[in-house]
Amino acid sequence: MATTLIRNARIFDGTGAAPFVGGLLVDGNRIKTVFRTIAQRDAAADLVVDAGGRFLMPGMTEGHAHLSFENVAATEDLITPSPEEQVFAAARGARALIDAGFTSAYGASEAKLRLAVAVRNEVDAGRLPGPRIRAGSMEISVTGGMGDESREHNPRRGPSIIVDGPEEMRKAVRLCCREGCDNIKLDVSGDPFYPNTPSHTTTMSFEEIRMAVDTAHAYGRRVNAHTRSIAGTKMCVQAGADGLFHCEHSDEELLDMMEAAKDRIVVAPTVALFHQIVKGEASGSGLTSEIGGFMGIPRLLEESAKTHTELRKRGVRHVIGGDYGFRWSRQGTQARDIEFFIDYYGYSPEDALVCATRNGGWAMRPQRDLGTLGEGMLADMIVVNGNPLDDPRILTDTEQLVLIMKDGGLHKNVLEAGGAADANGRGAKRTTAAADTHEFA
Ligand SMILES: [Zn+2]
Repeated sequence: MATTLIRNARIFDGTGAAPFVGGLLVDGNRIKTVFRTIAQRDAAADLVVDAGGRFLMPGMTEGHAHLSFENVAATEDLITPSPEEQVFAAARGARALIDAGFTSAYGASEAKLRLAVAVRNEVDAGRLPGPRIRAGSMEISVTGGMGDESREHNPRRGPSIIVDGPEEMRKAVRLCCREGCDNIKLDVSGDPFYPNTPSHTTTMSFEEIRMAVDTAHAYGRRVNAHTRSIAGTKMCVQAGADGLFHCEHSDEELLDMMEAAKDRIVVAPTVALFHQIVKGEASGSGLTSEIGGFMGIPRLLEESAKTHTELRKRGVRHVIGGDYGFRWSRQGTQARDIEFFIDYYGYSPEDALVCATRNGGWAMRPQRDLGTLGEGMLADMIVVNGNPLDDPRILTDTEQLVLIMKDGGLHKNVLEAGGAADANGRGAKRTTAAADTHEFA
């Protein structure tokens, strides 16, 4: 197995501890040694990379991935295209994520059942560039719930599998498992984009959720829930769901329940979409801040800030990302969430980066060998031309990601051996080696 030494780096290891100057020896796809010195230039490694004092951190995880969402402005954009066309969009989504330093994508839902499965398999085989992928299923919803786009006179199928009752749920989840999905997505609550079922409503029953969880766990898969309502989120926690998405509405009892379950749940607030609507970033697609006001988005954003600030204080594990891939939020810009976590939820820059790295890695792999830079951990990491703890927005500039490694293989490396950074950590030279080459372990 090939070895790579990255020396002379400022290492943020993803635990929240302060960065230290050091180096990492990668053997195969795992970190073998962590040096707390600059690490020698002539170390015995197949490749020695000098980080020039730059910031080295774990690769990030998109914690609520919709790989197949590309320029989406309406559910029509998910329903109409054929799977043959959408799989290319999903492949482009995967490429955009790894190019942006996201070495993992924890799947939410996709427009068709096997889009993320197909892309995951191609990426794992080394035939397409992309992050580690836990493939999301189609959404599973209920008659009249979010994602049910049919009407009595127009029985078209929405971007969801519609089930009613535990037995239909069992069959739908088994179908998703058979087709290779890693993550099963339930639409438990309503949503502001579905006027018949606003966000505080709860359309799925406890028996249906419980059946989905039991069935998916029997196949070794995870269950994630779209849940904005208090009752919906409580039922998900009680039924044993693994991932909770959105969770704007809360009461004291729910916060206590989530705190008690904090070692087994992961929570994706998906703050970006509401921020973008409120700030007018979606106006070009007709979704102005005025329309957002009629939909109650500002209030939901307030609720989100209140609930997730409280969950942060209680130590519930948050992940960044979610609901990117709309016309106003292209894939690969998910690192914006780090700044949103600081602004809306009161995270310190260090802890927001932990959400982006360690928490995401643990969601991807329950064995917890991903997301931090310790000995024995899987070797996913990025080198940044600048300090994200001073300005997290640097992570949204792919030009400043000068090295991207996934599973011990270099996706990108524009660092020169011996190259030095200036006082701001900038100045990577591009004269050598492998700009934008793609190598896979
Ligand atoms: Zn979503």
